[in-house]
Amino acid sequence: MLDLPYKPVLLDGVVDLADNPTPDAEWFDAYRQRGGYRTLEKVLRTMTPAEVVECVKASGLRGRGGAGFPTGVKWGFLPRDSRLPVYLVCNGDESEPGTCKDRPILEQRPHLLLEGIAISAYAIGSHTAFLYIRGEYFHAIEVMNRAIEEARGGGVLGLHVLGTDYALDVVVHSGAGAYICGEESAMLNSIEGRVGWPRLRPPFPAQKGLYGCPTIINNVETLAKVVPILERGPEWFRSLGTEKSGGFRIYSVSGHVKRPGNYEAPMRITLRQLIYDLAGGIRGDRPLKAVIPGGSSVPILTADHLDTQMSFEGVEEAGSLLGSAATIVFDDTVCMVWAARNMAQFYRHESCGQCTPCRQGTAWLYKILDRIENGRGRPEDLDLLEDIPRKIEGRCVCALGDAACAAVKSGLQHFRREFEQHIELGRCPFEKPYTQFV
Ligand code: SF4
Repeated sequence: MLDLPYKPVLLDGVVDLADNPTPDAEWFDAYRQRGGYRTLEKVLRTMTPAEVVECVKASGLRGRGGAGFPTGVKWGFLPRDSRLPVYLVCNGDESEPGTCKDRPILEQRPHLLLEGIAISAYAIGSHTAFLYIRGEYFHAIEVMNRAIEEARGGGVLGLHVLGTDYALDVVVHSGAGAYICGEESAMLNSIEGRVGWPRLRPPFPAQKGLYGCPTIINNVETLAKVVPILERGPEWFRSLGTEKSGGFRIYSVSGHVKRPGNYEAPMRITLRQLIYDLAGGIRGDRPLKAVIPGGSSVPILTADHLDTQMSFEGVEEAGSLLGSAATIVFDDTVCMVWAARNMAQFYRHESCGQCTPCRQGTAWLYKILDRIENGRGRPEDLDLLEDIPRKIEGRCVCALGDAACAAVKSGLQHFRREFEQHIELGRCPFEKPYTQFV
């Protein structure tokens, strides 16, 4: 097992994906007893909002939702002269395939998240925060609503937060099962009661977001991390990661590993350490075939990339993206055409249909991959699979279209021979069932 240079902060250790029943949440009294909300109190009484923003900037914290934008810099985009209310929206619409890192925070550390939301809201001058939770996360919605009631009763939320002049309320808003509502501008439409379609930008949410007001949108894990950063200092946090990827993060490791789970680790960790030291290696000690390092929206890597550092820049150098750090592991039994087809099916289903290249392109990608996998592929299909992404990428309102192309393009790049074999043989050369995911 890998030695970590600190005691895990967010998860209190590994959260096994097979945990059943889910461990109970840390409620208000227990959180207070171990020093919870002391950091918020210190911030409110001794720091200005600008000092909090500078502290988060100095920590090197980057968004943990997928894009990895520097959090403090994002906060700095808010207009200084606006008379409109400022909103904070916490994105808990965790729907990216393979990603399950926000769920244990929502279900087990609700007050840590509320403290992070409160500190962040104070920093950006917001008095109303929305917590948007994936609709299927029924338990998380219940936990967070109860925690908010506790925080109101305990004087942490309300007109005088912890006896100060700062006022804050937090409102939970649940999604209704659409992946696209995790896209930040679609989420704003969803909260407003509109169809969850992504918005054209500019204007960006920091200028004109929720109800036309300046809005900051941050991921659950990002906001939970604000607490330890303010508690222990930005240098401590930055020192755990790399120059461009400060701190630690939660890696959701799933697929063909012996111990699938959520692992909190410094961002210096390598893919090899994550799979073999933390997740126990490949099931049955079989060879590793492929890895998706950041959720289904990013390009596939192979066993040649095991020494990749799991930082934003490390994964980028390897030819992929860190995204949500959901690491999906495939052993040598997996057919990569089948895998690409499954992902294409997901994006075809989840495309909101607003842009023609995405709506039509995702449907065509799935259709072609499905016929190749089922032995009806044509030699020219591979050219089509290479051409369709060129018609989608960079031509859509949001990133879903580009994301839908990632598995197809990288699958062809690394496993082209497998695609050709399907067409030559007129069938899938792999035995079925070849996979069982956790
Ligand atoms: Fe909708 Fe796809 Fe266009 Fe995004 S890229 S707005 S999901 S159609």
